Amino acid sequence: MNFAEIKALDEQYVLQTYGRNQLAIDHGKGATLWDTEGKEYVDFTSGIGVCSLGYANEKWAKAIYDQAMKLGHISNLFYTEPYAVLASKLVPASGMAGVFFSNSGAEANEGMIKLARKYSYDKYGQGRATVITLKNSFHGRTITTLKATGQDHFHEFFFPFTEGFRYADANDMDSLLSVAGDDVCAVMMEPIQGEGGVNPLNKDYVQAVAKLCAERDWLLLIDEVQTGMGRTGTLFAFQQFDIQPDVVTFAKGIAGGLPFGGFLANEKCKGVLTAGNHGSTFGGNPMAAAAANVVMDTLTPAFLQEVAEKGQYLRDGIAALNSLYVSGVRGMGLMIGVGVQGMTHKELKDKLMAAGLLTLTAGKDTLRLLPPLVITKEEMDKGLAIMKEVMA
Ligand SMILES: *Cc1c(COP(=O)(O)O)cnc(C)c1O
Repeated sequence: MNFAEIKALDEQYVLQTYGRNQLAIDHGKGATLWDTEGKEYVDFTSGIGVCSLGYANEKWAKAIYDQAMKLGHISNLFYTEPYAVLASKLVPASGMAGVFFSNSGAEANEGMIKLARKYSYDKYGQGRATVITLKNSFHGRTITTLKATGQDHFHEFFFPFTEGFRYADANDMDSLLSVAGDDVCAVMMEPIQGEGGVNPLNKDYVQAVAKLCAERDWLLLIDEVQTGMGRTGTLFAFQQFDIQPDVVTFAKGIAGGLPFGGFLANEKCKGVLTAGNHGSTFGGNPMAAAAANVVMDTLTPAFLQEVAEKGQYLRDGIAALNSLYVSGVRGMGLMIGVGVQGMTHKELKDKLMAAGLLTLTAGKDTLRLLPPLVITKEEMDKGLAIMKEVMA
């Protein structure tokens, strides 16, 4: 089918909830994609930070195929090997004590919030269920995670929302203290606010929040749905802030393109959720777990070091464009935000797309780059050359 035919079907039959780019992607290899009309693109999106091993990765595809031919799915009422093996890799590598598997980021965050509320309920009883989140955050699209998201425009239409969230300004301890009260059980934050505009939190601030949480027995909940799984040059971004969360979520990149997510809990929180408290039909699906095992095995210290170096290379390359359209470059590893001025971020994204480079937007004025972690120097140079051509 060509683009026009696919688009016609979509418009007739699909709920139109996405502001889609005007192309249909057909296939890819590494960090290069082709649309249905045969046009080639350098990919700085990875889906949205999902396809960490790029497209058509052979190890990844083979692991999924082999697992599908062996056992494609079975319920969580049984043990399976890919699941247990994945847990045995993730838990020590993150310094946590146990893991729960779900299918998506929002669901992982919901589970983390449930855990925090039950921790507090078990220890202190009712009335201590408020979670403080940060303004400009993004935590997901369910009724609860929308309310956890600290942006007013997400709190429309779908009333009544889940109660028990208050919002503090990022990087501002006074703001956090001003919304703190006896009813608080946790603070939840992204180390780098992703959808909000690729805004890294200050290390001092994150450490001060961690200290306050420890003092007041609030749980420190870290949302690493976007920043986790090697994206920033370490397995989790929190490892670069020298803190240890009570609970941390992951999703997007974990299975390299299959739907997967979950949360890791520390020793203190390991026993909070028990049989019957929480679950998921698809969570930890054997094929998704097999794919995630390939991702985990790829994220060696040497590979992660390369992610950090590639990120620096791209950020330096963008800064060296000296483009009038760039107000600044931010980020860690291969999670990069480019401040856009002189046109809107969407205009810039569309111009780059027409010239053969796929990018994302974030916040009000940020171009967001989340290339596959396996992107080559040649692919990065191609992308930078397109940026130069469009943004000079
Ligand atoms: C994408 C994202 C989510 C939501 O993940 P879904 O898989 O879309 O539910 C939550 N938190 C952060 C930080 C994200 O980037």
